[in-house]
Amino acid sequence: MSLESHLESRKGTEAWQICQDRVIDVMKKTLVGVMVFEVLYPQLDFKGERIQELVGIFETNSIEARLCQTEVHGLYEMGSMMEHSCVPNINMSFDEKFHLTSTAGRDIEKGEHLSIMYTHCFWGTWALRDHLIKYKKFWCFCKRCSDPSELDKNPSNILEGTVPEFRGFLEKYSKELYSSHYYMVAARHSILQMVGRVEGPYETKSLMEPRDLLIETASVLRDETNTKLPEGQLRKQVDETLIQLKVFMKTVGEF
Ligand SMILES: [Zn+2]
Repeated sequence: MSLESHLESRKGTEAWQICQDRVIDVMKKTLVGVMVFEVLYPQLDFKGERIQELVGIFETNSIEARLCQTEVHGLYEMGSMMEHSCVPNINMSFDEKFHLTSTAGRDIEKGEHLSIMYTHCFWGTWALRDHLIKYKKFWCFCKRCSDPSELDKNPSNILEGTVPEFRGFLEKYSKELYSSHYYMVAARHSILQMVGRVEGPYETKSLMEPRDLLIETASVLRDETNTKLPEGQLRKQVDETLIQLKVFMKTVGEF
């Protein structure tokens, strides 16, 4: 019980409701099950908030053990205490009894922290950070997440291209990726960055598409209000550019 549960910050979140629906309500409906537990463990209480705390501890600290036939999560006395990095230096492996073995994935300097990965290494920064803030309750500032090129591997970035190429990308993948997918946002952002760099004269008609892209991007980023974070800064830039573009369109055209 000394492990972190993030009890307070989980209140009102999707994770809290899922625990209520799938654990607490199910236990209440099968009262016999609760009674059996109460007899077996009289020292424990089975109130809703206590169960939320236990589930919080499990979701915050558990480690995913991937084996051939199964995928389970377990709490490990020492393993669960290892810190996270999106470029970890420790590999983990599990035997059929879920014993955990930690192995150095590279040479480790004296004094360097040991780190494992709480999520999946092939995800891009947006997906990594989204998962970590939702389930582990921290915003990752590791050296990979802090680098736009993700240590020159660029898993989140789209190669440089022209406006028509980015438009083609958006059109091609609009049926396969969500509008909020980070590839799609990155493509729209790339087009927006080119607006204004292309030589005039501008026709108001040609500015409609960038304006629509700005409105759509502002909508996707509507919850990103913290300007200390990259997403919040992008949202602020988009809002400001939208205002400037509307003023510009009024001055050059019939708007
Ligand atoms: Zn990271």
